[in-house]
Amino acid sequence: MKLQEYHAKRLLLAQGLPVSDFAVASNPTEARTAAERFLEIGAGKVVIKAQVLVGGRGKAGGVKLASTPEEAAACAAQILGMDIKGTTVRRVLVAPGADIVAEYYLSCLLDRSSRRVLFMASADGGVEIEVVAVERPDAIVYLHAHPLLGLLDYQARVLAFKVGLGNHLREFVAIAKGLYATMIANDADLVEINPLGVVRTVGTDGTITETLECIDAKITIDDSALVRHPDLELMRDLDEEDPVDIAAREQGLSFIKLEGNIGCMVNGAGLAMTTMDLIKRAGGAPANFLDVGGGAKADKVAAAMRLILADPNVRSILVNIFGGIARGDEIARGLVEARSMQERHVPMVVRIVGTNADLAAQILARAGDADLQTATSLDEAVQKAVAVALASTAPVGGAAA
Ligand code: GDP
Ligand code: MN
Repeated sequence: MKLQEYHAKRLLLAQGLPVSDFAVASNPTEARTAAERFLEIGAGKVVIKAQVLVGGRGKAGGVKLASTPEEAAACAAQILGMDIKGTTVRRVLVAPGADIVAEYYLSCLLDRSSRRVLFMASADGGVEIEVVAVERPDAIVYLHAHPLLGLLDYQARVLAFKVGLGNHLREFVAIAKGLYATMIANDADLVEINPLGVVRTVGTDGTITETLECIDAKITIDDSALVRHPDLELMRDLDEEDPVDIAAREQGLSFIKLEGNIGCMVNGAGLAMTTMDLIKRAGGAPANFLDVGGGAKADKVAAAMRLILADPNVRSILVNIFGGIARGDEIARGLVEARSMQERHVPMVVRIVGTNADLAAQILARAGDADLQTATSLDEAVQKAVAVALASTAPVGGAAA
């Protein structure tokens, strides 16, 4: 789950990281009030930032600086309602504008292949790290935290020197260790600061100081760990989630959309993966991963069918149920019911074995649905589902190339 910048910054603040004070506004008046407060306590400018879960807000015009409350309200009015990469801006963050001298990049993420936390740092901050990785790969420093002890001080110092922040050593070490702490405390799989700014402040006596500050923050939480963090679950932004994902979660279904055209309805994650593998081997492509769970009942089957059919690419549906706790007849009844209600008619191949498989077969036969085939073995089911999908996507006339 991706967090909005203002949520991510709260998590950073909780670990003692240097993040400026900020407010969240959903209309220009609120933005003006917040700006007034920051300008009164000495900020020369305020920054107004679109809160959407996509990167590149700066380039899209979603980050603006203002010098007066009126200007801040005008900027907020411009940004709110703006479309950034297909997402409508509903909230802005208002903060004292930083006088940024230089922009760096620092992140930590879960590196599954090494089973460790990987730190990435670069002096080329403020631009997308994916671009840096392609264009100037040498500009990124990589370092794995110790698997048991976390990021050690000397490792953080190595990072600092390699990106040229040796003159901000103490601050940098504290920030890098703070990112690690944020990651562990929240079961995050990514904590990214881009840019990590060198920020200039002028004291009342005119002395200039330069300090490091987290200007932007991006955190993603491991979905599987959210049960341990009800407070983070509350940060979920339903406005920016795919309605299909929301529906799947509400129904307790594990559903992941894929690129293919064969919808899959299977009980059990392992069986679902096997089914997808066999589809691939038979020359087809699964449209989704879907585990309806152990004791799936008719209503869950119907909900699963709606999710599958919400994808316009789907040309055939493969149902593969190994009845243990799940009863074959319940599933079959759910399938027949779901098909009678659906508007779009897509051919379906059903293989139900195990508990009450014989009853299931009777129910399916009685339905008298010409587009519903049954199969007894998984191989047979896969062959049929792939054949149907291929036939429906073959060019008209069927001329072979
Ligand atoms: P992103 O484009 O979505 O990654 O949004 P960022 O928060 O990273 O902002 C984009 C850019 O806006 C940064 O790289 C900075 O150059 C600039 N920016 C953001 N906040 C401030 C600020 O407080 N002061 C100044 N001068 N520039 C800022
Ligand atoms: Mn950024």
